[in-house]
Amino acid sequence: MSGDATRILVLNCGSSSVKYRLYAGRDAVAGGTVERIGESGGGPANHEMALREVLAGLDLTGLTAVGHRVVHGGTLFAAPVLVDDAVVAAIQDLIPLAPLHNPANLAGIEVARQLLPDVPQVAVFDTAFHRTIPEAGATYAIDLAVAERFGIRRYGFHGTSHAYVSRRTAALLDRPYEEINTISLHLGNGASACAVAGGRSVATSMGMSPLEGLVMGTRSGDLDPTIIFHLRREGGFAVDDIDDLLNYRSGLVGLTGDNDMRAVLRRRAEGEPAASLAFDVYSRRIKGYVGAYYALLGRVDAITFTAGIGEKSPEIRAASLAGLERLGIAVDPQRNVGSGDRVISPPEAEVAVCVVATDEELEIVEETVAVLEHRQLPAGTTQPVPEPERPKALS
Ligand code: ADP
Repeated sequence: MSGDATRILVLNCGSSSVKYRLYAGRDAVAGGTVERIGESGGGPANHEMALREVLAGLDLTGLTAVGHRVVHGGTLFAAPVLVDDAVVAAIQDLIPLAPLHNPANLAGIEVARQLLPDVPQVAVFDTAFHRTIPEAGATYAIDLAVAERFGIRRYGFHGTSHAYVSRRTAALLDRPYEEINTISLHLGNGASACAVAGGRSVATSMGMSPLEGLVMGTRSGDLDPTIIFHLRREGGFAVDDIDDLLNYRSGLVGLTGDNDMRAVLRRRAEGEPAASLAFDVYSRRIKGYVGAYYALLGRVDAITFTAGIGEKSPEIRAASLAGLERLGIAVDPQRNVGSGDRVISPPEAEVAVCVVATDEELEIVEETVAVLEHRQLPAGTTQPVPEPERPKALS
């Protein structure tokens, strides 16, 4: 099948929304979002109703396949797979690891299989790209038996974005993907850093869940676990309240009341101390990860900023990498304020600092087509597709 002749529908089913985009080759020809699923007042009652609505509104003649975004593939999936009953069962088994996301992703798969029984369905996992992280990077230093029993390890997320962006970085620099080491910084509402060595993820800041790592719109990122015990014992917080605090009322919103970086930047420019502090906490955390991943990689060829904040905030890019000249890292102020995919470091700099617009849907299209063609994308996603087995930790 030639790339241009394919028609791929990409589905991203969240807990209360369905995002969809229809591609002819690499061109998006239709798309949209259905929101407020299952909420009183307006939205469709469930994912099935939402998907029926979406599919009814699209011209699906000659549809090649549906590519589904699936958040958690656990240790089972190191690459995208063609969906069959065993894959559905495995995604189901992983629900305890992603209680908010996997059920919605699964609903999308099941309804699409039902409504489009003759169309191949492909599952593309957020975690898959990170299955190349060595055990030493995926293991938390706790009792191994406890960790094994409860599936506690670093899985990492945003894999589709880090894979796409690191490959694009190599293309931008006109270097072979297999030969360069990249630190990819995905700074959207969720945020994560990833060290990519020769096309393979070797470290990432999100962990067992998307809560760990960088400061995010509403998530705290890294913190001392004792904070949780303290809130429980001294503050009388229920576990669900702490979960809510750290996932939805922390990060930028916790520090400033605003989860939108544009508002934080504006308030900082007006001289507001809380916004200024949030900016410093945010960019200092990024710098710490850049330093850590520099050490892990040994040699860094590129640092790439992506997603809403990474693509659009020169202030955050400059502050996150300030003072790293001794590591060969610098941002050229003129190039920093430009637009489009580009290199923003000075020409003589040892490390190329880049801005690349991420495109997770397009990556899902490419991975879906690759699965159908039994072809593997370069590095990173070249792991053989494992036979799904029931996860040890959850059986
Ligand atoms: P999501 O993770 O939901 O896909 P995005 O990648 O769109 O989110 O990123 C959202 C973040 O990008 C928000 O914090 C938003 O404030 C920020 N953002 C968008 N445009 C700008 C801009 N021009 N300058 C700074 N931040 C921006």
